[in-house]
Order: sequence, then C-alpha cells, then structure tokens
Amino acid sequence: MSAAPPLASAPRPPRWPLPPFITATLGLHGAAAAAALALPGAWPWAAGAVAANHLAITAAGLWPRSTWLGPNVRRLPGGAAQVALTIDDGPDPEVTPAVLDLLAELGVRASFFCIAERARAQPALLRRIVAAGHSVQNHSLRHDHRFSLMGPRGLTREVGDAQALLADLSGVQPQAFRAPAGLRNPFLDPVLHALSLHLVSWTRRGFDTRTADADVVLARLSRGLAAGDILLLHDGNARRGASGRPLLLDVLPPLVARCRAAGLRLVTLAEALPPRHAAA
Ligand SMILES: [Zn+2]
Repeated sequence: MSAAPPLASAPRPPRWPLPPFITATLGLHGAAAAAALALPGAWPWAAGAVAANHLAITAAGLWPRSTWLGPNVRRLPGGAAQVALTIDDGPDPEVTPAVLDLLAELGVRASFFCIAERARAQPALLRRIVAAGHSVQNHSLRHDHRFSLMGPRGLTREVGDAQALLADLSGVQPQAFRAPAGLRNPFLDPVLHALSLHLVSWTRRGFDTRTADADVVLARLSRGLAAGDILLLHDGNARRGASGRPLLLDVLPPLVARCRAAGLRLVTLAEALPPRHAAA
C-alpha cells in the first residue's frame, strides 16, 4: 500500500505566509498610490509600475517552474539518490491499465496526477492504482483550460472538490497538486495551503502529448538525469508513437533502465514528500 497518510489525518494548517513576491507587489501598489496622491504629475509613472508588476505576476503564473507565487516543488527534497516518475491526466480506461501492467513488470512505482472527474468515471481503475502501491495525486476536478484565470472561489472548487473526490474514491488523501498545464495565478497558493497540498511541478517533461517520437521524449527526460528529479509523462491524452502504442509505453522501459544505471531509485511522491505543514 501507499505510504500516504490516511484520511482525516491532515493537521490544521498554520496561517498562510505571504510569498515575498506578493508582499513586494502589495508594497508596490501602496507606494504607487502614495506617489500618485503626493505628486499628481507622477501618476503615469505609478500606473506604469503597477502595470509592469501585473505583467510580472502573469508571467510568473505562465511559468510552471516559477516560485514567485508560492512554494513549488520542482525537485524531490532530501538529496537521496532517488527520482519520481509522475504520470498526468488519467485515469484513462485504455492506457492506464497497460501502464500499470508495464510498471508492475518493471517493478517500479509512480505517482499519478489524476483528473478527479476522470477518476469518478473509472473508480475501479483508481483503486487498482492505489492497490499496486502507486500514489494518487490531485490534478484538478476537470483540467479546465481557464484554470489560471479563476478567482479564489473557482480555484477552491477545482482543487478542493477534486481533493475530496480523489480521497473518497481512493481511500488516500493526495498530498500534492499539479496545475493543469502548470499554469496558475496568485490565488492558488492560499487554496493549496488551506488543503495542506504541495504544488508540485517537475524537473523535466517529455512533451509526450505533442511529440510522437519516443526517442526524443526519452532524451528530454533523461538528459542530465540526477538525484531528486521529478519527471513528467502522460497516460491521459497520450500520443501514439511509431509502434501505434501510447508513447509512454515505449518510453518507460528505457527510462527506468537509465535511472537504474545511474544508481537512482524510483519512488512515489507519497514516499518522498513530507507533509506540507510538517511542523503544525
Ligand atoms: Zn494535465
């Protein structure tokens, strides 16, 4: 079974700490307002500074590995000789069973970032993922392409409803959230904080939903492979390779072999991540 904490064990989170970039943003807004009031001629400069700041916030939200909008797990903590395979956008009734068979054959455990509505349609498949020792993590309720444009209420629904549904269906509380396409905005971190969820992005991704060449995807994932890497593949929306099979089925065997050749153990996020509010 997974090493994830059982349901209802999450400690009450401490107060949400403002990320430094957000603190600086609030300070800038205050300073701009004060400057515009004190020196009426300065208002175009103040407005320009605020507009530039909003552009920076938008850019940070469009940069999946950014830490400006809050903590973002891009590598496994701890420095152990281990890597995590993360598999997004399932469960898929056709692809996921084949991936589970292959992982069992390879003797490897992975972390599945599941879309909760897809999990609701495939409850037996979700249970099979957990029973095999893999970890189930939160990849939103619907994978809505407008996710990064949502306000606090929409984000709470997309993340919170997914969390409740995935916990209910799998019997295990996800500890990690990955934003659809990695895109987000400043309202997301308070929502994740309240749910004791880590934002997890990746060290390297294979772009396996766009690239149909397994060798290219393998090269992207294994170039510079090192301890702590979080690697991203997809079982939902999977591209087919030259073999006609979902791409990750051709990528996983050589990728696992390269990890092992480099002395790296494959672990799940449930094994590798401490609780977000460990000291609470
Ligand atoms: Zn996704």
